[in-house]
Parts: sequence; C-alpha cells; structure tokens
Amino acid sequence: MLRIGLTGGIGSGKTTVADAFANHGVPVIDADIIAHELVEPGLPALESIVKAFGDNILDKKGHLKRNKLRELILVDEGKRRKLESILHPAIHNEIETRINQIHAAYCILVIPLLIETRLTDMVDKVLVVDVSKNTQIERVKNRGKLSEDEIQSIIGIQCSREERLKAANEIVTNEGTLEDLAIQIAHLHQKFQQFAST
Ligand code: ATP
Repeated sequence: MLRIGLTGGIGSGKTTVADAFANHGVPVIDADIIAHELVEPGLPALESIVKAFGDNILDKKGHLKRNKLRELILVDEGKRRKLESILHPAIHNEIETRINQIHAAYCILVIPLLIETRLTDMVDKVLVVDVSKNTQIERVKNRGKLSEDEIQSIIGIQCSREERLKAANEIVTNEGTLEDLAIQIAHLHQKFQQFAST
C-alpha cells in the first residue's frame, strides 16, 4: 500500500486536508491522535512522562496536563527531546500496526513533524500543506486556544516553510477557500490512485 505522509506547520490545514481525503474513502492515520491516545492514564508512555517530568505533570484525576507540558517543552529543548524520545518510538510502532490492518490503494499518514523527525523514509511521498506564516497565525488565533506568542514559539521550533517545501513531492496550497482545497484534493486523489496502481 502506498503511504502518503501529510505534513505542514501548525494550523496549516493538515486535519482539514486529511478530512478531505477521508471524504474520498481514503484511510487516514493521524500521529497527533495516536499521541493523545498513548498518554491515557495507565499506559506506559504516560508513566515514562511522569518519571521524566514529575508528578505535577498530572491533574488530580491522573490525566496529563497538556498545557503545562507544552509550556515546559517550548522553553527547554532538553525536555522537548526527552518527551520526543518517549513518544516518537511508540507513535511509530502504533502507525505501523495500524497500516498493517488497512487494505487500500493508498493511505494518508498525518505526521506533523515528519520532516523535523526525519521520518520521511517511512513514507513513499511527502505531501505538504503550505500556507504563509500570517495565515497560520490568523487561523490558529481564531481557534482561540493559543496566544500569538505561543503560536510564534511553536512555529519557531518547527522547520521552516522553505525546508518543508524542499522535502515535498506534492504541495497543497491552503490560502484559498475550502472549495479551492477540495478541488486540489480531488485531483491529488486521482493522482495517488493512479500512482498506486502502477
Ligand atoms: P494543527 O497544526 O494545530 O494540528 P492543522 O494543520 O491540522 O492544525 P487545521 O486544524 O486543519 O490545521 O486548520 C487550522 C484552522 O484553520 C482550523 O480552524 C480550520 O478550520 C481552519 N482552516 C483550514 N483551512 C481553511 C481554509 N481553507 N479556509 C478557512 N479556514 C481554514
């Protein structure tokens, strides 16, 4: 099965693009969703995080305080690397497990840090969702969960737009409307189906 790695900066539109492929019946595996599932109470990844970051990273019910963790890793690269060393192998394994359960011409793997984590070998093609930094900031701000400073910090630790575009085999431009996006996805869907059958 052909593996398409879908990536892009924060708020670029990865989930929106993945949903558009899912509307064509394409199976989607999302590394962010897996990362959330892996840190449920009682699971080994959460135990490793507590060992590394201390008990106060959990709320009273034993759930991970995601905002607190994000604050810590945004200002401390060592902590960020520690978290990645816990989560990335587990995410990688889970992606492979799920791929093995799918039968389709191709699948979409949403991997936000595909390029940063040098996981491009895991996929056959890299599909980048591209937007300007201003659009990224506006759209994430509109979601209302992060301040502009936090968004800027996250953009700062992600790879640059240029690096991402350099690694791309295919590019979706998400500056326009959702209809514009749907047209691009329909075209890519045909292209990936054709490519998978050759
Ligand atoms: P994150 O990196 O935070 O996971 P993402 O890359 O998955 O984000 P989305 O969640 O798909 O990005 O999109 C970010 C926001 O922008 C969402 O609120 C989404 O509804 C909105 N959005 C995406 N594409 C468009 C578009 N073409 N026009 C208007 N709004 C859009």
